[in-house]
Amino acid sequence: MTAETSRPKVILLAGFPNSGTTIASYILGQHPNIFATGELYGFPARQLKPLKVCSCGALAVACPFWTDVAAALMPLADASAAVRAQAVYASVCRHSGRPFIVDVA
Ligand SMILES: [Zn+2]
Repeated sequence: MTAETSRPKVILLAGFPNSGTTIASYILGQHPNIFATGELYGFPARQLKPLKVCSCGALAVACPFWTDVAAALMPLADASAAVRAQAVYASVCRHSGRPFIVDVA
């Protein structure tokens, strides 16, 4: 079973603001099987803002990785938030090639 066909495995770090969840996610993301997404809540509207810069150095709205991930949502405009979230997680797994995702809430 590959990352494309398997159900995404999500590690969700939740904590109070400024409690270290983001840095903890980046540390976990150093593992070769884990992709750290940052905070995916509200994707793509909250993350792909016009002047926001991606960690790859590109403008977020032009980042090839995130625009490919966002494309998975195109046919799901009327779907529930849960269905859309699962599609984003699956797309992140598919495009990153990593079976685990760490998201921050
Ligand atoms: Zn990028």
